[in-house]
Amino acid sequence: MSNTGKKMLESALGVITKTAKGLKLPDATIDRLLESDAVHELHFSVTMDDGTEKIFTAYRIEHNNALGPYKGGIRFHPNVNRDEVRALATLMTIKCAVAGIPYGGGKGGVIFDPKTVSGGELERISRAYARAISSFVGPEYDVPAPDVNTNPQIMRWMVDEYVKIQQARKTHYTKSQLWATFTGKPLDLGGTLGRTEATGRGGVIILKALLSKLKTQTTNHKSQANSNTQSLKIAVQGFGNVGYYFARLAEEEKFTIVALSDSKGGVYVKEGLDVDATLKCKKEKGSVAGCYCKGSVCNIAYGKTISNEELLELPVDILVPAALENVINAQNMKKIKAKIVVEMANGPVTEEAYEYLTKQGVVIVPDVLANSGGVTVSYLEWYQNMKGETWREEKVNKRLKKMMEEALDIIWKKSVAKKLPLKQAAFEVAIERILAKMV
Ligand code: NAD
Repeated sequence: MSNTGKKMLESALGVITKTAKGLKLPDATIDRLLESDAVHELHFSVTMDDGTEKIFTAYRIEHNNALGPYKGGIRFHPNVNRDEVRALATLMTIKCAVAGIPYGGGKGGVIFDPKTVSGGELERISRAYARAISSFVGPEYDVPAPDVNTNPQIMRWMVDEYVKIQQARKTHYTKSQLWATFTGKPLDLGGTLGRTEATGRGGVIILKALLSKLKTQTTNHKSQANSNTQSLKIAVQGFGNVGYYFARLAEEEKFTIVALSDSKGGVYVKEGLDVDATLKCKKEKGSVAGCYCKGSVCNIAYGKTISNEELLELPVDILVPAALENVINAQNMKKIKAKIVVEMANGPVTEEAYEYLTKQGVVIVPDVLANSGGVTVSYLEWYQNMKGETWREEKVNKRLKKMMEEALDIIWKKSVAKKLPLKQAAFEVAIERILAKMV
């Protein structure tokens, strides 16, 4: 149905096939890596505020559980479709393997626009979805989490619904272990400190570690690493959970954030903008466009409004697509000026654009590595729930840093040893880990 979803799926399966062929795997093994274990298409009815019953279509796709329970977020979006969810589930298997956590890959989604429903309707849709998936998710089987347009509040409704159902079924799990079925929860329901910021934080950890590796590398890569982060200009597309925390934590690390955007457009402040002032302004105005904030002051004289397309083509050192998939593609790839692209969104660079930019010497940090901070802290949340523990935020952040740096280190070493771009090296590491456990 959706061309975007189809392209995303082709791209995800294409990279796995290419990597697997490079590893000289037999066709039957490649087929097993590509196929999903289960595709759940769900239809459920919800009572809307006006008393009418509306049928919603949703998915939960379980790709591969060789390394552990299926793991992956739930997306609420009108463009959700089977191919897209399957692509995202497949990439979750790779991502968890890349991150070195004991999880497989899954993904879910409900087809609707959350902006068009009331708070009560949103709660009823969330609870109905939780009921629809309740017979096949569980702490040791399939562990969902938030994704685009879903958040801890939505996880609260889902986990509450799920716990009620399981307790009525007299499960052997403790309440804390039942909570482990969903991650990204509020703190009072077994959520972990550090989860909200984790994906953005993980991306900044990877970026810093990469820059230090590039600095010591002697090849004449187009990407000239610079230890002085202040001189490195970053443009971030998307100002939601991932984009905001990436920008804010990069700013804390003294990078210069020159551009930000949301679905309504963006701003460019050449000398660097203030991320929190931009957030405050966005909350007042309803969009990032129009917020030209330096220090704590927002003034139209500081910058200009740009479109999301223009943001991607800015003269920056580092480009961070943190919103939607396929935004860097054949149409704009020749206009990309950044020397490093950090894929914080899932699948923001199409295969064609990836090939082109890589040949141009652009370093692309693949999504499966760059945005794996979220799932890594989800794992730490799950771990705490399963053991009945509650960690301090410093402990979570310290573990995250160690795990992300280790993940990059292994991929970097493979990339250097086999002269592969980071994405191919990451996929090789992941496939080797999955195959080692696949029965
Ligand atoms: P979110 O809903 O919090 O934010 C999405 C942002 O993208 C918003 O600022 C929105 O305005 C913006 N946006 C929407 N349409 C846009 C468009 N056409 N052009 C530009 N911006 C647009 O979602 P999120 O959690 O920040 O997720 C963003 C991406 O990161 C997704 O691809 C998601 O799959 C991926 N991701 C999220 C997590 C996580 O922990 N939240 C983890 C891994 C990957």
